[in-house]
Amino acid sequence: MREEDTVCVGSDGLQYCKVCGEAKEAFFPEGGFMEMKKHSRQCACDRKTYEEEQKYFKDKEYQELVSRNTSICFDESRMEEWTFENADMSDAVMHKAKSYVDNWEEMKRNHIGCLFWGPVGTGKSYIAGCIANELLKQEVTVKMTNFNTIIDDIFPLADKMEYINALALYQLLIIDDLGVERNSEYALGIIFSVIDRRIRSGRPLIITTNLPLKEIKSETMLDKRRIYDRILEMCTPMYVGGTSKREAIASMKMGKRKPC
Ligand SMILES: [Zn+2]
Repeated sequence: MREEDTVCVGSDGLQYCKVCGEAKEAFFPEGGFMEMKKHSRQCACDRKTYEEEQKYFKDKEYQELVSRNTSICFDESRMEEWTFENADMSDAVMHKAKSYVDNWEEMKRNHIGCLFWGPVGTGKSYIAGCIANELLKQEVTVKMTNFNTIIDDIFPLADKMEYINALALYQLLIIDDLGVERNSEYALGIIFSVIDRRIRSGRPLIITTNLPLKEIKSETMLDKRRIYDRILEMCTPMYVGGTSKREAIASMKMGKRKPC
């Protein structure tokens, strides 16, 4: 649209917007500023356009931040699909996981983490992934990893503490599948350093494990004992049981083979 189609001059000599009726100019008070008597001003349409632009750039910035944080968080992109929206929310533990996110500020303030334990294939990693994705959407920095990856990453590094300190900086750290990693003195030393540094940072830690809670509580090997003591200090145990997803799929396949 040409300017003369949207702007007209009023009886006061100022330009007016034909669309919203507001003035697009105003007089300087006290007879002018330097040689000028009038200055331009935004009409309602201009303000609306400006707000829309601001919103567009803010949304774009938010999307970019979340997608950058998400790609840092996960080692595998399929984990980005692990969300409460895609989950069975009738599941009691899933519900607790959602409530952990809903009360995130309080969890953070009180340094409360979770220890999701239970048999293989019951969806513990999935639950932790749902928490991660939901918090990422709230612009929280999250890292979900496991000790095999950490130990492999750290091995060639000259400055191992730098890596361990970086893990302590994420607002939430999730260590998946504790207990499957190598049992060497070296590995257990790294695991202790990561857990200890994290706990001293005061930021929450979430762990998933196939180890039975009884075993975690009664471990006698000193190198493991001090790791588990730290974890139990900060992470509320939550049992993830029910029918294993893999068992459910297997029994469905069995059912198909039965004659009707
Ligand atoms: Zn206007």
